[in-house]
Amino acid sequence: MPTTSPIVEQSPAAMQRRADAWRASGKRIAFVPTMGALHEGHTTLMQNARRDADVLVASVFVNPTQFGPGEDFEKYPRVLEQDLVRAGEAGVDCVFAPAPAVMYPAGYATYVHVEGITAVLEGAARPGHFRGVATVVTKLLNIVKPHVVYFGQKDAQQVAVITRMMGDLNIDTTLIVVPTVREPDGLAMSSRNAYLSVQQRREAPVLYRALQLGEQRIRQHAQQRREAPVLYRALQLGEQRIRQHAPAAADVIQEMRALIGSASSGVIDYISIADAESLQELHGPVPDGAVLISLAVRFGTTRLIDNILIPRTRS
Ligand code: AMP
Repeated sequence: MPTTSPIVEQSPAAMQRRADAWRASGKRIAFVPTMGALHEGHTTLMQNARRDADVLVASVFVNPTQFGPGEDFEKYPRVLEQDLVRAGEAGVDCVFAPAPAVMYPAGYATYVHVEGITAVLEGAARPGHFRGVATVVTKLLNIVKPHVVYFGQKDAQQVAVITRMMGDLNIDTTLIVVPTVREPDGLAMSSRNAYLSVQQRREAPVLYRALQLGEQRIRQHAQQRREAPVLYRALQLGEQRIRQHAPAAADVIQEMRALIGSASSGVIDYISIADAESLQELHGPVPDGAVLISLAVRFGTTRLIDNILIPRTRS
């Protein structure tokens, strides 16, 4: 399919007029919000969204309100021209790329705060981060007016926060989550990978190996339980025994720490095994409900995150 350059809108009012016109002519609008420096993770979201829409909008906006003091807001890569080419190739019709002063003009005073699930994991490590994310996503949804919006599983807590926010605020847009896109060696694609030195890049795939190790430990136990149906049926005691031997989250985390420590110079910010919905940490035996294993590790000044979601029905 021949690719054309996307239309670029920089003004919220112009973007809203365009969205209104699309809606008035019965077009279904899909939307992929990004901070730019587009890679295959982003373009996979766009390709998925493309199939689901008459018009596809992406935003490229490095949102200042989601960066804390001392974080990488200034040095975050900004390559709009290159992004427009990639977005065009991925089927994007329109890129919304506003300036910070347009999104947050003088006197700006309104923020969206999602309680509870923003207090843990990334929210605990980056105070104010999700306030910025929830605020900008609300603004972007009001500006682009999409029927459907796409987010990546790479940012698992972001998905949880936005899902909660959209439900709580009755936002009339469908949210679709796309699985994490990885490099061939397992490293989750991220605009921040560009900061890594050659040596750090060599070590970084251990994050995914550690997550896989955690997943394996937790799934192994479920497997053992499934292989012992007679115990379930005949002896409640049997089930109880096996339950007692569910891997303790703390032990699994310890193994993951040891792996990362032995294979890299990465400094662990956190490794978490949590209930996938509430994001509350598990410490004792891992139950059979949906579980999110997630981590954040620093390589020098570069902070990488990754996760594996284990659904309720384990195979
Ligand atoms: P960002 O530009 O980092 O804010 O990301 C924009 C969107 O792309 C978010 O929904 C991310 O979760 C998603 N995303 C980023 N990296 C990946 C990846 N490796 N796989 C899937 N989605 C991703």
